[in-house]
Amino acid sequence: MTGEHFDVLIVGAGLSGIGAACRLRTRCPGASFGVLEARDDLGGTWDMFRYPGVRSDSEMFTLSYSFRPWTHAAAIAGGRTILTYIRDTAKEFGVDRRIRYGHKVRSAAWSSAEARWFLEVETGPEGRQVQLTCGFLIVCGGYYSYEGGYRPEFPGLDRFSGRVVDPQRWTDDVDYVGKRVVVIGSGATAVTIVPALARRAAHVVMLQRSPTYVIERASRDAVADALRAALPERLAFRLARWINIFSGAVFYRFCRRFPRAARWLLLARARDALGAGVDAAKHFTPRYEPWDQRLCQAPDGDLFHALRSGRASIVTDTITTFTETGVTLAGGETVEADVVVAATGLELQPLGGIRLSVDGAATEPGETTAFRGAMLSGVPNLVFVFGYTTAAWTLKADLVSLYACRLINRLKRSGFRQCAPRPSDPSMATRPLVDFSSGAYRRAAAKLPKLGTKGPWASRQSYWRDFLTLRFAPLGSGALRFSNPAPTARRGRGGAGAPQRPSAAR
Ligand SMILES: Cc1cc2nc3c(=O)[nH]c(=O)nc-3n(C[C@H](O)[C@H](O)[C@H](O)COP(=O)(O)OP(=O)(O)OC[C@H]3O[C@@H](n4cnc5c(N)ncnc54)[C@H](O)[C@@H]3O)c2cc1C
Repeated sequence: MTGEHFDVLIVGAGLSGIGAACRLRTRCPGASFGVLEARDDLGGTWDMFRYPGVRSDSEMFTLSYSFRPWTHAAAIAGGRTILTYIRDTAKEFGVDRRIRYGHKVRSAAWSSAEARWFLEVETGPEGRQVQLTCGFLIVCGGYYSYEGGYRPEFPGLDRFSGRVVDPQRWTDDVDYVGKRVVVIGSGATAVTIVPALARRAAHVVMLQRSPTYVIERASRDAVADALRAALPERLAFRLARWINIFSGAVFYRFCRRFPRAARWLLLARARDALGAGVDAAKHFTPRYEPWDQRLCQAPDGDLFHALRSGRASIVTDTITTFTETGVTLAGGETVEADVVVAATGLELQPLGGIRLSVDGAATEPGETTAFRGAMLSGVPNLVFVFGYTTAAWTLKADLVSLYACRLINRLKRSGFRQCAPRPSDPSMATRPLVDFSSGAYRRAAAKLPKLGTKGPWASRQSYWRDFLTLRFAPLGSGALRFSNPAPTARRGRGGAGAPQRPSAAR
């Protein structure tokens, strides 16, 4: 049985999904649309992550929406403040009423014959299946699994008598006050949670296998504050946003162009902030170049202060085994713990884990090439959001939403029913969607769409380039084709004979 039909369905009511919904409301006013959200509330990342100190590490002038000024004093904001901002935006644009909570999209099957997507959606606690259809699909399902973080095999873990916590599943009953805490990891989560826990724990050890670049930054933006004092709110926000886009891009380019200088600078700043008591060279000099992995931020140097004060310490070593009371390390040291926080990374997952098929042929995202970093080769009427990893996620997410609106309006105006990108050179070399050397991206490389090496397939982490192409490049020329396929035409990979109402490939 086919259920309701929409012109557009958005998967996910996180930062990206709400942004896309707001854009649809204003740019495609005639389109019927809904937002399908697996969880019981909106906000995605900013609702689910509740560990102490959870915050952005981008400044909020670029992580917020370009169309709704960030007016809070803090440039680096806490998770709850960001959640409130998303919630208020949804309300202000009236898109909160379009969200269907508890709707997890399991599969999406495109039928060329009917020029629509058939979505199998699981709803309610008993997992009732409903089918919804739409002419265009925008997938804003984030980039990681909501089932839990990545946990490597830790020898002897079941022997440990204390509590082991996944920061992705932090609950209020995690009792760390006055306790000895070990945080395993060196990524953004560890860098955030260590100083937050150190305020109330007996002691926190940050236990890392290898170091990460950590840079101190002010939690308030002095330039933005000055602009706000002198100019109307919206104008001040716009200027602050562009200044941050520009300065972020310049810093990134500097690091990539002059890695040795960048490395020296980052280490010198860490050394200054840590003082003589902490070996900065040992614990803050990674084996890779700056921006081979995401740079971690320490707002107002909070991590460095925690280490300098002695409330926290840092150990760079490998775990040999857990014991009943802590961990022993390859270097022979033992670290005692009451609570262990496994900040060992996310389990990456593209496109909300949705099984995709086109005319009955299963489509693995990892076997497709991303067009303008927003569509999948051979997949019609689908745009996916995967934000920047070297700048604020929302900068790209918003451009992709605007691009989706352009496509939807073009389809409507032209009378074509579908548009899909297809590489003209099937032998084009590919490279990873995200060129980071971190474990999470290496583990997930096969699952993620690839980038091409030419033209619109070779999307780079460049806001300026994307701004021009996603907003202004002509649609329907080159690799992106608008068409009205014959009802019996077979699209996508695989043989002949499209089903009329496909059930998604299982
Ligand atoms: C702790 C933390 C801090 C971060 N800080 C920053 C930062 O400072 N700067 C930055 O640029 N990035 C940051 N990120 C990355 C961050 O995830 C993005 O900035 C942004 O929040 C992603 O928004 P999103 O809406 O695309 O995805 P999410 O926030 O992950 O939301 C996705 C939503 O889609 C829903 N969903 C997924 N699959 C389905 C499905 N099949 N059916 C229905 N619903 C589905 C989920 O339930 C969720 O609500 C951070 C990430 C984490 C974990």
